[in-house]
Amino acid sequence: MSDISIFDMFSVGIGPSSSHTVGPMRAAHAFVHMLKAEDLLGHVNSIVVELFGSLALTGRGHCTDKAIFMGLLGELPETVDPDAVQVKLDALHETHVLLIDSKTHFLFDPDQHLIFHMDKCLTLHSNGMCFTAYDGRQKVIKSQVYYSIGGGFIVTEERFNDPIVESDTKVPYPFYSAKELRALCIKNKMRIKDIMLANEEALFDIDAVKKRLLDLVQIMEECVHKGCTTEGYLPGILRLKRRAPSFNRTLRQKGQRGNAPLAHLNWINLYALATAEQNAAGGRIVTAPTNGAAGVIPAVLLYYKRFYPDVTDAKLMEFILTAGAIGIIYKLEASISGAEVGCQGEVGVACSMAAGALVAVLGGTLQQIEKAAETAMEHNLGLTCDPVAGLVQIPCIERNAMAAVKAVNAAILALTEGGAHRVSLDEVIITMLETGKAMSKEFKETSKGGLAINVPNC
Ligand code: SF4
Repeated sequence: MSDISIFDMFSVGIGPSSSHTVGPMRAAHAFVHMLKAEDLLGHVNSIVVELFGSLALTGRGHCTDKAIFMGLLGELPETVDPDAVQVKLDALHETHVLLIDSKTHFLFDPDQHLIFHMDKCLTLHSNGMCFTAYDGRQKVIKSQVYYSIGGGFIVTEERFNDPIVESDTKVPYPFYSAKELRALCIKNKMRIKDIMLANEEALFDIDAVKKRLLDLVQIMEECVHKGCTTEGYLPGILRLKRRAPSFNRTLRQKGQRGNAPLAHLNWINLYALATAEQNAAGGRIVTAPTNGAAGVIPAVLLYYKRFYPDVTDAKLMEFILTAGAIGIIYKLEASISGAEVGCQGEVGVACSMAAGALVAVLGGTLQQIEKAAETAMEHNLGLTCDPVAGLVQIPCIERNAMAAVKAVNAAILALTEGGAHRVSLDEVIITMLETGKAMSKEFKETSKGGLAINVPNC
């Protein structure tokens, strides 16, 4: 394994997008941090931020502008208070001043200093951004290009071709593919969760790891609860009404906990809709492995928690660890960026992670876990990204529900039929990457094709 931790795959942030909100906020924060570290901050008079490619085309709908402002102000996705964002943004729009600390401030007029290059794309990735700091005489003090490469991960231009920095701490069970992970499990007679825990233990205190894993589950539950109880409309010109609260009421009134054959599916739908709506509203979210796809894994996890007996903390941790291992392989072998490979790399990957994780906690074999993860992706191949009005709402919200149900079906197939499978997980991951590369750019988070051009915005 590289130095990708489970907590990189499942980070806590805010909606609506990991690549367009979380990544840019981290980049803006990193740029200011770099100025500070190089003792340049005192010379800065203004900062200009340029957005390219998909970040420019769908940035406003994905709140990239707000994320950049918050990052420049020193906020990070994992700690920013979503409810306090608007107050800070209002102050910025009024004063055009970014207050870094009591001694330091820059000029930053959002209309002038944040530039959306709608017709330009940087060479290395569709999600490019350039930060430039100027002194009082308009001389460039520092400039840095960053790319947001999916799931909230960022990389500088210089490190683009080598984004995974090897850690000084070597993990005991490194893996770069499903084949390698399988071999490690067989050789050491360990389950995937044991491999993952041992690797995390090399990086962090084990008790802290376990607590953080359970914290992730709790944040997912809180997100579902908030999504189920927050009435109203989602932000943006589509004026979409939140569906989860009325869906929740209907389910509870009908008491659909029990016997109707399709009743369980409704709870999966509810959990996915509630999470995806919270994400669309800019709420606190667990990136899993991206924000646009953040409803799939909680939906399957909470379905498991609600309907299966004897669910323990250990099982919940196994779910997250197994899903994370599968996600890491996608990240290393292919991509989890909708701007790079379409929605198959976001909702498709989440579906695959959830399917494998469900099989793991239901006692499936290594082969069955791989089969479920493979099946789930095989039937997401070619899934395009065409968000209407650049908002992470249509088709994203419903798509999370559809994928969560598909993940459960992939798990059922694997558990019922055994683990034999003709297509390996690595083969389907490479196929996903090649399909993404061949996909027209109109279908890769640009809102220039598909539903985005056929559905009226209002
Ligand atoms: S269509 Fe898929 S990849 Fe595109 S923004 Fe929506 S969830 Fe993300």
